[in-house]
Amino acid sequence: MRQYPLEKVRDIGIIAHIDAGKTTVSERVLFYTGISHRIGEVHEGQAIMDWMKQEQERGITITSAATTCFWTQTRFLKQGENEEEKKKIKKDNEHRVNIIDTPGHIDFTVEVQRCLRVLDGAVVVFDGVAGVEPQSETVWHQADKFNVPRICFVNKLDRVGANFENAFLSIKERLNPNALEMQVPIGSEANFKGVVDLLTMKAFYFEGEHGEKIEEKDIPQELKEEAEKKRTILVEKIAENDEKLTEKYLEGKEISEDELRQSLRTSTINSKLIPVFCGTALKNKAIQFLLDAVLDYLPSPIDVVSLQPIKGIHPKTEEEIIRQPKDDEPLAALAFKVATDPYVGSLTYFRVYSGTLKKGSYVLNSTTGNQERIGRIVRMHANHREEVEEVYSGDLGAIVGLKNTSTGDTLCDPEHPIVLEKITFPEPVISVRIEPKTKADQEKLSLALHRLAEEDPTFRISGNPDTGDTVISGMGELHLDIIIDRTKREFNVEADIGRPQVAYKETITTESEAEGKYIKQSGGRGQYGHVWLKVKPLEKAQGFAFINKIKGGIIPQEFIPAVEKGVKEALTKGVIAGYPLTDIEVTLYDGSFHDVDSSEIAFKIAGAMAFQEAAKRAKPVILEPIMKLQITTPLEFLGDVTGDLNSKRGRIESINDRLNIKVIDAIAPLAEMFGYATKLRSMTQGRGTFTMEFNHYESVPNNIAQAIAEGKK
Ligand code: GDP
Repeated sequence: MRQYPLEKVRDIGIIAHIDAGKTTVSERVLFYTGISHRIGEVHEGQAIMDWMKQEQERGITITSAATTCFWTQTRFLKQGENEEEKKKIKKDNEHRVNIIDTPGHIDFTVEVQRCLRVLDGAVVVFDGVAGVEPQSETVWHQADKFNVPRICFVNKLDRVGANFENAFLSIKERLNPNALEMQVPIGSEANFKGVVDLLTMKAFYFEGEHGEKIEEKDIPQELKEEAEKKRTILVEKIAENDEKLTEKYLEGKEISEDELRQSLRTSTINSKLIPVFCGTALKNKAIQFLLDAVLDYLPSPIDVVSLQPIKGIHPKTEEEIIRQPKDDEPLAALAFKVATDPYVGSLTYFRVYSGTLKKGSYVLNSTTGNQERIGRIVRMHANHREEVEEVYSGDLGAIVGLKNTSTGDTLCDPEHPIVLEKITFPEPVISVRIEPKTKADQEKLSLALHRLAEEDPTFRISGNPDTGDTVISGMGELHLDIIIDRTKREFNVEADIGRPQVAYKETITTESEAEGKYIKQSGGRGQYGHVWLKVKPLEKAQGFAFINKIKGGIIPQEFIPAVEKGVKEALTKGVIAGYPLTDIEVTLYDGSFHDVDSSEIAFKIAGAMAFQEAAKRAKPVILEPIMKLQITTPLEFLGDVTGDLNSKRGRIESINDRLNIKVIDAIAPLAEMFGYATKLRSMTQGRGTFTMEFNHYESVPNNIAQAIAEGKK
């Protein structure tokens, strides 16, 4: 039986740039929700003690890809006449909150995008001293791209130099003018004691060793005026976005606390308003109100459907299918992370979008077409792991020991197949040589790289047989930088890195044909293979096709696969500069054979020879990866940024306004984009941000092709 109705489920992420306090905030969230869940079961004081002991012993699991916790808004905990009633009110209002771990490095990698897809809302954490930093802008724009409703938390108000007002203004000016102050801090820096809540117009102080005792008082005299002023703005802003309330407001009627809360919820979910809260995670102040806000303002899986329906396609017919987040719909779940757990082995984290995922059932992995049996399902809590029988729509869990399901795959009802996300992982477009510094690093390096490759499907490792080096390939310079950085920090490996290399390809531009003859008839066993091949360019990204048009046994059937094999081998080494050939159709249409001397090897060689000759005649060209860029910059640097793009063979597709910044969509060759992060930073005084992903391959201009062929590029 479902324990929590869908309206009482939240799937959220806590996002921040490094050092803003994401880890500390998450820890505190798990700490307080741990207490909350136990209140009523044991005496409160005892529960905290238990919790603290456990926390010290095992450390809180905050590294789990999805952690489940429970929370009831603090305002409900004050209600009720007696214990019995209190317990009931608390239970009736309890929510399940699933916290999805978002990677610390927010960049353009697939993993970040997938996390943002799986969560319904986010808490963005800022440092109370620094306010909005260039990196927070990157985080913010990623969330914009995926339409993620969010609330803000200005952390570290206890620090010297922390200032909520300044941090709030930086959010309003640099990220979104619809940011809305929800609280006024009481005291500052070391004297920061609590907050005035602008909805209820009450002052709250956080006492006790872990700030777990919330004391409600009247607003201190010296803050009254400021609080009144800010509440007026708050009410005005909420009413502005709500027709019904606008009317009431204009008529001078009182708008109730609940009406304000309800209306702000709708506006937050529609990303029209962004509530901003404050506190300090380290000093245990006001985290409980942040949790209240997660329940009050961030969407449930039902709210999200009104923003973005659950869409998928039929794996065979490619017809679009829409699903509802209901437990009795057919199952559709998305695997969003595969992790290795020291206790149980492989854990496949998933979110159920529709239907119910049951232990012991058979499901279809519609991405691969394989059937999978669901052995055990677990849910991760802060301090324990719960074995569950089933997971309902809108909820998250992890399957133990799935072998053939990877990140991004859809698991569904075999009778009602659906693919939730059509993902084709882009081919890596950039490579660097990586060489361990010492013998001892060698083994560690290999282990580290393989671990990282398991997590990230866009990262590849290959050996370079010519030199014995390891070559790693990925989606961009930053992607590889992060991987190299992680091998250092997480695996302690020292390595030397080569110069980044672009993964060029070659293709042909016209049709042509050629003969391949491999005949040896002197001494020993003779050889005889003879073919005629036609080559023809294919559409972009079609790869390779082989057509056999041999009739009447001119070449015996048994030798045909050998011809194809020869052609395939020849494809790996292009005819201009040795890069792999792609997007070519090859037709075998004529040839001859010899009763005694013909062999597979002879036909393979003949196939390769004919193909190479035909490719040379078919006006071959070199292809280079072209990247899709989105650059954001304040207006004053727009000219420099676009001028620089033009000099890099870039093409600007559009320039738009996003609030007070300019957003440039452009495409540019990867070869010109090395070091762009540094370049952009210096051009924009650190305020420009960009994302870059592979878009397509395109032929390089003649002068550059020549330089590449001569090995000068
Ligand atoms: P993350 O990199 O975003 O996960 O940030 P962490 O949670 O690891 O915090 C970075 C640093 O800031 C650590 O040294 C924390 O102890 C510190 N920190 C986190 N929250 C607060 C806070 O509220 N006040 C103060 N003074 N320091 C904090």
